Amino acid sequence: MKYFIINRGDEVSQALHERFIRLADQYGLTLDEEQPDTVLSIGGDGTMLQAFHRYKDQLDRLSFVGLHTGRLGFFADWKPEELDTMARVMARPPEEHPHSFVEYPLLSIELHTADGMESRLALNEFTIKGIEETMVARLDVNDVIFETFRGDGICISSPSGSTAYNKSLGGAVIHPSIPCLQITEIASINNRVFRTVGSPLVLPKHHHCDIYPQAGKRMSFSLDHLGFQRDNLVSIRTSVAKETIRFARYRPYPFWSRVQRAFIGQEPTEF
Ligand code: NAP
Repeated sequence: MKYFIINRGDEVSQALHERFIRLADQYGLTLDEEQPDTVLSIGGDGTMLQAFHRYKDQLDRLSFVGLHTGRLGFFADWKPEELDTMARVMARPPEEHPHSFVEYPLLSIELHTADGMESRLALNEFTIKGIEETMVARLDVNDVIFETFRGDGICISSPSGSTAYNKSLGGAVIHPSIPCLQITEIASINNRVFRTVGSPLVLPKHHHCDIYPQAGKRMSFSLDHLGFQRDNLVSIRTSVAKETIRFARYRPYPFWSRVQRAFIGQEPTEF
């Protein structure tokens, strides 16, 4: 089994990285940066985003696993004190853990500019915002005009991203086994001229959403942890990607337990 490690860069993550390499040697795992079977992320959810973007061209052949070095995240199942167990479990032949992979949906983004089309994938979300002024854009769902948006911007998230920026915007938390995307507004202006639905929309995997911003405006985008700008944008199409991300799950850790621990984190109050 070939592996590679991406760590957050802090002292604790770096030390665990080095310790894992020593353990992996003992268990017969091979370090391979070019074509790993498993990519281990040591750090937080943000570290997994980096790992995903680094290996997004090999999604059909590799899986990801996460070890957290802060609070327990959504993409990381393992704790630092479990490093040894983790290396041992990873070294087991695949036939000994046949059900230990889960596949989660990704977001597909097509940026149509005056120069052509750029295709991107997001694990969490994609956002579009204006730069000098509020963003004005027409939003179509399945090629039918839905609304004219005016405000700070629009966030389109995957189910995995529903617990990230989307949640801060009032979006719903969605189980990542549901292939869908969610559209949330970022500070929309609502008056007699500009009227938006005002609620998050959840689209199934066979639907798509097109955004047509006002022509000639420079726009700012975020794709997970990455940011970029364009001044020649024509439209953006988002849909559920045909690609998925595969996580190695060597033991059960239900999504709703992650949500509970991340956002509530205490025993329910007696009543
Ligand atoms: P960051 O600004 O350093 O961290 C953003 C926070 O989001 C971190 O606490 C990170 O967890 C957490 N996070 C990332 N993915 C998550 C997920 N799927 N579910 C729940 N929490 C998640 O930036 P970053 O670490 O590079 O992460 C980029 C992400 O930040 C974006 O994808 C976006 O979702 C999020 N973001 C959120 C807001 C907001 O909520 N207002 C605004 C901008 C961006 P860790 O500490 O475990 O890494």
